[in-house]
Amino acid sequence: MTGTPVAVGIDVGGTKLTACSLDANASILVRARTRSPVGDPELLLDEIARLAAEVGDGLPVGVGVPGPVSRAGVISHAPNLDVTGLDVGAGLTARLGRRPAVTNDASAALVGEHAVGAATGHDHVVMLTVGTGVGGAVLVDGALLEGASGHAGELGHVLADPGGPVCGCGAVGCLEAVASGTAMTRRARELVAAGRPTLLAQADKIDGHALDEAARAGDEVARTIRREAGEHLGRAAASLVNVFDPSLVLLGGGAGVNAAGDLLPPMQQVMRERLAGFARPIPPIVVASLGDDAGMIGAGLLALRASGQKP
Ligand SMILES: [Zn+2]
Repeated sequence: MTGTPVAVGIDVGGTKLTACSLDANASILVRARTRSPVGDPELLLDEIARLAAEVGDGLPVGVGVPGPVSRAGVISHAPNLDVTGLDVGAGLTARLGRRPAVTNDASAALVGEHAVGAATGHDHVVMLTVGTGVGGAVLVDGALLEGASGHAGELGHVLADPGGPVCGCGAVGCLEAVASGTAMTRRARELVAAGRPTLLAQADKIDGHALDEAARAGDEVARTIRREAGEHLGRAAASLVNVFDPSLVLLGGGAGVNAAGDLLPPMQQVMRERLAGFARPIPPIVVASLGDDAGMIGAGLLALRASGQKP
């Protein structure tokens, strides 16, 4: 039986915008997608509003954006879309005639995974999303941790390696700078340039796909790159467990899910080693289950909650 649409969720990615309408059980009813306009903030807002009308005209709208965002809905940093400083809240209110719920994409993904994905039944969760960058979100007592200004949960910018590369945020050695999909392919290029024997040297282009192929074929350099990223994620996860005491650590994001077979074992091992000195429960690390749908489902649920309706 098809449910009644109650909210619209939209995920704003670096390459595509995806939208859906949801029923009260967070089931997807109608989907739509389009390419993300890069470097044109007004067109981006137009496209978001157009998709919202297409999948569920007049319903509460939630939007997940690829970067930290203030409580008011202003994007603080989004270099991939070139929309840093964009007031998504005000821009969409003018276009939709109602205020949208605007949140960071990883936070939206965690809300989706908590409602109908891999984090169902867990009210204390730390999520790390590994994609172009490293995102994060924290659930405390079933609610997203927002912080004083709305910027809590930027777990990709915790310090991972003081001697590491400069991060996209300008700081040195962030987790994102050593464990993101971008960081892994950069490391692959460095090792190929250094003459290390690897299948990657034969790739037309050293990107996430080439790294994936090489790792699948058992290439030692590719596997080592992923293992080291996994170890960084494990050290960060141990610190985050010490801070938030979650019952579950969730690994998500396109590269995180795709490379989970290589990332997860070292991540688990390093996290366990660092927490072994405490007589405390050590949470499992689980791979997110909703894929690309998590963000738009979570955004829709946040819109529904902001409108005063359940769930
Ligand atoms: Zn950073």
